[in-house]
Amino acid sequence: MIPSLRPDRPLDQHQRPLGVLRLSLTARCNFACPYCLPDGQEPAGLLTLPERVAVVGAAVGLGVTSLRLTGGEPLLNRELEDLIEAVQPLRHQGLVEIALTSNGSLLDRARAQALRRAGLDRITLSLDGTTAESVAQMAGLGDRARGEQALKRILAAIDHAKAAGFDPACAALKLNAVIVRGRNDDQLLPLAQLARHQGVELRLIETMDVGTRNGWSPADVMPAAEMVHQVGQRWPLEPLGRTAHGTASRWRYGDGQGALAVVASISAPFCGDCNRLRITADGQVYTCLFASQGTDLRPWLRPVPNPSGLSLALGRLWRQRQDRYSEERQIDGPVRRRSAAEMAYLGG
Ligand code: SAM
Ligand code: SF4
Ligand code: SF4
Repeated sequence: MIPSLRPDRPLDQHQRPLGVLRLSLTARCNFACPYCLPDGQEPAGLLTLPERVAVVGAAVGLGVTSLRLTGGEPLLNRELEDLIEAVQPLRHQGLVEIALTSNGSLLDRARAQALRRAGLDRITLSLDGTTAESVAQMAGLGDRARGEQALKRILAAIDHAKAAGFDPACAALKLNAVIVRGRNDDQLLPLAQLARHQGVELRLIETMDVGTRNGWSPADVMPAAEMVHQVGQRWPLEPLGRTAHGTASRWRYGDGQGALAVVASISAPFCGDCNRLRITADGQVYTCLFASQGTDLRPWLRPVPNPSGLSLALGRLWRQRQDRYSEERQIDGPVRRRSAAEMAYLGG
């Protein structure tokens, strides 16, 4: 029986099954990327480790096979490895992969090895430029020296991740780059070159209108087709398509040197099979990156986690889900709905 047809696996109002949980571990970050603009402080009432494990358990029971740990910057959370270890038993209940999205600046050798030992399967590192200036600008670091330091650390993080066993050839290590027109579009080819050299798949992301702080405008967006065209002019590309429920459309380099991916949430939305649920560091669940409101899960977590209540609440929420914001977005229309929650709170 396919998972979505099992009676305990809910479908939403558009017949989409639940498949991915993006769990944010902190709203804080050591970077201040202008397209994200994280909070300086945590919200009150952060979930504890046992509460997070209970939430992941309930989500896996409803069909989640992929857990992505994110933030803010998830490496700021000292319980990250404990959480990864604590959810390992859920692999017997359907959890297939545990992934991490990080800016990489805190990923030293010891941390990469500890994450691997704890049972992490995949890491995606975010890097928006290949020069000290562009990293400083895109990460909101203020000056060139801090940009240079961050770039060095992220490049070292790629090496540490590889050495710890996150093999890019098995898609266990990838790079994310948000491209903002007029700010880092000149970094497109250098980023592709760097990724090809490292043997790592690069995912080029259209900048999105999440939250209310980042001052997003449609003019900031370089459409994915244009990115693919630019890279393809330099290194010919062949389409591989988008996997079901995935966010990225993939392209193979004609010379056999790996693949490139684009996330075209603005120019070619993929709400039709979106299977992602997001839970913030303080236990608010969102059924869409652009949902204007979340639902507080803490009543089912405190004073002690209530697994059946949690499962019922999450299942009910998923069954009611109607979100398809990116498909409804009218960039040129008179009114654009803006989400209330910020990216670093939702976890990307
Ligand atoms: N701090 C970690 C990082 O940067 O990888 C994890 C959290 S971050 C919110 C997750 C992903 O969301 C990153 O790859 C980041 O580039 C992406 N992101 C943040 N704001 C975005 C925006 N406005 N549009 C598109 N992607 C965005
Ligand atoms: Fe921090 Fe990631 Fe947001 Fe940049 S995108 S500010 S690294 S949370
Ligand atoms: Fe999923 Fe919402 Fe993004 Fe559409 S806009 S792909 S429903 S998160």
